[in-house]
Parts: sequence; C-alpha cells; structure tokens
Amino acid sequence: MLAPRGTERYCRWNVKSPFIRALRLRCPHCGGGPIFVTWSRLVPNCPVCGLGLERGEEGYWLGAYFFNLMAVETVFTVWVVGFLALTWPSPPWDLFQITTVLLMAVTPFLFFPFSKTLFLAFDLMVRPVSEEDFRVPHEEARRHGVRPPRGPSATP
Ligand SMILES: [Zn+2]
Repeated sequence: MLAPRGTERYCRWNVKSPFIRALRLRCPHCGGGPIFVTWSRLVPNCPVCGLGLERGEEGYWLGAYFFNLMAVETVFTVWVVGFLALTWPSPPWDLFQITTVLLMAVTPFLFFPFSKTLFLAFDLMVRPVSEEDFRVPHEEARRHGVRPPRGPSATP
C-alpha cells in the first residue's frame, strides 16, 4: 500500500522520532521532560503534553522489562562473541567470568529507564495516543514538582 503523496517524509519522521526521544529519556510523544523523578521512577504524566505515561493497564511495564531483558541478552551476546574472538585461542577464563558477572549485574540497572521510554515509544507506535491518554489527572505530576501541562490537548 502506498502512502498518500507528500506523507513519506512525515511517516518516516513519525516512526523514528519517538525512539530518538526515548533514547534521550524524554517523552516519546512530544519530546518534553523531564519525565523521570529518579533513575527508575517516572512522573505519572508528561509535564509538557500531559500524556499519561502508564497507559492504563495493570502490569503495563512488563513490556519494559522485556525490552530490558532483550538489551541485557544483546550485551551478553556481543560481549561473549567479542571477548572470545579477541582473546582466542587462550582466553583468560577467570577474567572472563568476573567481567561477565559484573556486566550482567550492571547492564539491567543502567538500561532500566531507557527500557521504559523505549517501550513507551513502541507502545505509542502500536497504539497511537487517544484522548483517554490525556485524561489522567495531572495533580500527581504537580506533586512531583513538575510544571502543569500546556497546549490544546491538556484538558484537566
Ligand atoms: Zn509529552
């Protein structure tokens, strides 16, 4: 199916930009922020567009945990293949074991906020925003010291 004339650039931008925003730990919908209170804790709503960051379902962040697991497994695979390729035929196994355990302990913690924003970007791609995503009360966001949302979609 062909995209309507003139929308190719829009479509391409629309797919990439939420993930770029997510990698910058910003709201995948608008690029606003900050959306993290701590390294692992999100504000309930984007302070700029008002998007509810937990999109309504119980266990919503299970997908983020899956993204985190994929990242850890990717790092593990690249580490094992890279280390063994560089040190073969006599890899230092003790060093390999210690560094692998440390890497596997640190990577999930470091990637945790990215897994949340990347999952949110993926979810926004699969399930585009609706009016309901902006209906979540914003009082809790204000309690976290975040500015109230603005713009046409920021209805209280
Ligand atoms: Zn936003």
